[in-house]
Amino acid sequence: MHRTIIGDFELTIVSDGTYFLDGGALFGVVPKTMWSKKVTPDDQNRLDAGLNSLLIRTGEKNILVETGIGNKLPDKLVQIYKQPAKLPVNLHAAGLAPEDIDIVINTHLHFDHCGWNTVRRGEEIVATFPKATYYVQRGEWEHGRLQLERDAVSYMSPNYDPLVESGQMVLLDGDHEIVPGISVKVFPGHTANMQAVIVESGGKKACYISDLIPTSMHLDVTWVMAFDLFPLETIESRKKYYSWAIPERWLTVFTHDDKVPWGYVERGERGKLVLRR
Ligand SMILES: [Zn+2]
Repeated sequence: MHRTIIGDFELTIVSDGTYFLDGGALFGVVPKTMWSKKVTPDDQNRLDAGLNSLLIRTGEKNILVETGIGNKLPDKLVQIYKQPAKLPVNLHAAGLAPEDIDIVINTHLHFDHCGWNTVRRGEEIVATFPKATYYVQRGEWEHGRLQLERDAVSYMSPNYDPLVESGQMVLLDGDHEIVPGISVKVFPGHTANMQAVIVESGGKKACYISDLIPTSMHLDVTWVMAFDLFPLETIESRKKYYSWAIPERWLTVFTHDDKVPWGYVERGERGKLVLRR
């Protein structure tokens, strides 16, 4: 289990397991001859992608960033993606029960980021983390509700609408400090309102950058996923992120990297971006 300290806070990677993503979808316009030097797909061009949630223990609050795929996928999607459903057991291994989580932050509402927000109990959909307050951007929720042709498949109402209706999910309007030292910042590109989670304590910083930089193989600003709705904004958002994260040495946390969950982005030879672990 990956664990580190940022000032007064303890950070732990708790994974929901791995799922399949199509190599072309993950690397967008980057030719396979280039990306396949970094990772080898299976005979159906699929890659194992991580589902990394980040547990932050501040000493007062237990905060969970992202909740993986969950256990409510329809059978057809289970066949396509797999449904590992490992978050509860990994959370238990980290020493916590669902009742111990005080805050859940979703960076956006694609099904592979908020699946364990809720579980089925009989006919009902209930919060997996009964005592938690959940946070997401209002614009992200509103976009999901539009159910547009391009991305309706990614937005599954049972993952969030019951929580919004009950008042357990708070809709944010832009950048916001959730608790002292834990804030969210909107980085458009993957979606218009995807938010990263910035952790700051004792003069150190970490950032769960989510799908803006999904794996350690996506450091180059032009290696943009085909899923991204606004690829030009992804490039600009990454540049902005690096302008802070590199000089201030932020620990960058990768949502979909099953091998390298975090590291420090640096400029190497000829300005090339490299990861130091
Ligand atoms: Zn996404």
